[in-house]
Amino acid sequence: MGLAPVWKLRTGVSQENSFPEEQEQAGTGTRQADILQMDWPQLRARVAGCTDCKLRAGCTQTVFGVGDEKAEWMLVGEAPGSEEDRLGEPFVGQAGRLLDNMLAAIGLARDRNVYIANVLKCRPPGNRNPNPWEVAQCAPHLQRQIELIRPKLIIAMGRFAAQALLETGATIGSLRGKLHRYRGVPLIVSYHPAYLLRSLTEKAKAWEDLCFARRTMAGL
Ligand code: URA
Repeated sequence: MGLAPVWKLRTGVSQENSFPEEQEQAGTGTRQADILQMDWPQLRARVAGCTDCKLRAGCTQTVFGVGDEKAEWMLVGEAPGSEEDRLGEPFVGQAGRLLDNMLAAIGLARDRNVYIANVLKCRPPGNRNPNPWEVAQCAPHLQRQIELIRPKLIIAMGRFAAQALLETGATIGSLRGKLHRYRGVPLIVSYHPAYLLRSLTEKAKAWEDLCFARRTMAGL
């Protein structure tokens, strides 16, 4: 089976994965407009109370994001895993510890000049891949977080985040090593830390990506 198209964030969701009434609701109209004018407390409350897709019914709590709300660096992952679902914070499991170590290697920390969020705020059951409908529902939350933070640079971690933010089906290999833009904000693609835990040889490439990000940031 092919990969689900996860990138249709602005215009709705793909035909094969949704119902017509859902397509009308997704990412359009007053719902999206309301979210996109929210301040931090309003956005937090909205995410905490969101039941716009079925994921909330199956998770423990929403996982909003963590870090410096004035950060120059923003890191975006896929969705909470089991530890994140339990603790309410992104990247606190094994992959998160690796991420913290990688950030430390370039002098960054999650509470200092970095903000970390996921495309989805609720854990998909059994860590399954999110579907396009779920992505479309949650996309305005991430978009508003990015607008409020106004980071100088975004790092999309993993295929899912990269494809969702860049609205593309391109492979991670073809997206790495280039400077992209999300609504005008420079964006760099790297591997997901969970993938790096399974594939140690790719750690060197992730380090290259971080060095590229650091060089890019220095020139912004
Ligand atoms: N993987 C993600 O993409 N995000 C998390 O918060 C944890 C694991």
